[in-house]
Amino acid sequence: MKGVTFDRHGGTEVLQYRDDLPIPEPGYGEVLLRIKAAAMNYNDIWARQGVPGMDFPLPHISGTDGAGIVEALGPNVTTVAVGDEVVVNGAFSCGDCVECVRGWPMFCPKFRIWGFETGPNQGSEAEYATVPARNVIPKPGNTSFEEVAAISNVLATVWRMLVTRARMGAGDCILVWGAAGGIGTAAIQLIRAFGAKSIAVVGSEDKAKLVSDLGADYVLNRKSQRITREVMKITRKRGVDIVFEHSGAATWEESTHCLRWGGTIVTCGATTGFTAPLDIRFLWTKQQNYLGSHFATTAESRDSLRFVESGQVKAVIGELLPLKEIVRGHELLASGGVAGKIVLVP
Ligand SMILES: [Zn+2]
Repeated sequence: MKGVTFDRHGGTEVLQYRDDLPIPEPGYGEVLLRIKAAAMNYNDIWARQGVPGMDFPLPHISGTDGAGIVEALGPNVTTVAVGDEVVVNGAFSCGDCVECVRGWPMFCPKFRIWGFETGPNQGSEAEYATVPARNVIPKPGNTSFEEVAAISNVLATVWRMLVTRARMGAGDCILVWGAAGGIGTAAIQLIRAFGAKSIAVVGSEDKAKLVSDLGADYVLNRKSQRITREVMKITRKRGVDIVFEHSGAATWEESTHCLRWGGTIVTCGATTGFTAPLDIRFLWTKQQNYLGSHFATTAESRDSLRFVESGQVKAVIGELLPLKEIVRGHELLASGGVAGKIVLVP
C-alpha cells in the first residue's frame, strides 16, 4: 500500500513516500480501514523530530486524524460492518480497565494516541490502517471524508475542553487564542452554537476575516492590539468567564489577567513553551480554576459530531494535498501560516 513513513527522527528529509508498505491485518476487536482522507496534526511534527523522553517505535506512520471505509473486520467486532463509512477517534485505550469504564481513557495504562504513540506502521497517513472498533464513529451523512477527517478530533478536543471540563453555558464570554487554527475555528463555532460569546485572537487580517465569518463576536489582532486592555473594554472590566488556551508560555500570563474572578482557564496544549509564571494569589483570592484537558473520548466525538450533522459546525480546510506532497504539508504546518486543517488524500 501507499503511505508515508520514516525510520529515523529528523527534518522533512526523513519522510519517505512509499508504495510497497504491507497492508496491516486487523487484530482482535479491530477493523481494517481504507483511508479516504487524513488530516495533519502537530503530533506529526513532534513524532518526526522526536521528543526527549519518548520512545517512538520505528519505522513510523504518522496520522491521528482519519476517515474512510471499513474494508475488513478482525475477530469479535460486532458494532461495525464492512462498507461502513466512518471517522476515527484517535484516543486509543484498553476499554476494560477501571479508568476506561469510568470514562477517563486518558488515564488508562494502555492509552495511546493513534499515529503518534502507536506503531510501528500505524497512523492515518497511508492507504490502510487498523483501528479498534470502539474508536470508530459513523460519518455524518452530509459531510465528505475530507471534512470529517479535518473536524472530528479537533471538535471532540474542543468539546471536552469547553463542555465537559469548563462547563460552558449560554451567555458565557470566552477568550480564544489562536482562533484561526484547527481547534480555534472549531471552538468559535461551538461557542456560537451554545449561545455563548467569543473574543477571537488572531495574528493577521486574513485570519480576522475568517474567524469573523465563522461567527466570532469580537476579533482582536495580537500584533496590533493589547489583548488584556481590549478584553477589559469588551467585558466592562469584568474579564472573561473562560479562557481557551493551547498556546502556553507566550500567552498564559495574559490569560490570567483577562480572566474574571471565579473564571476558568482550560488548556489542551502549549505550542509556544511549557513553563509560565503563576501568581498563586489569584488562585485563592480570585478563586480561579486552571483546568487541563487532553484529547477526548469516543462518546465526546459522537456528541460533538451531532453539531456537524446539524450544520452548526463546519470543517475549515486550509489546504488539501495529495499524500505524496507530505513534505509540503509538514512545512505548512510548521510555518503556522495555514488557517484551518491540512488534509491529505492517499
Ligand atoms: Zn483502559
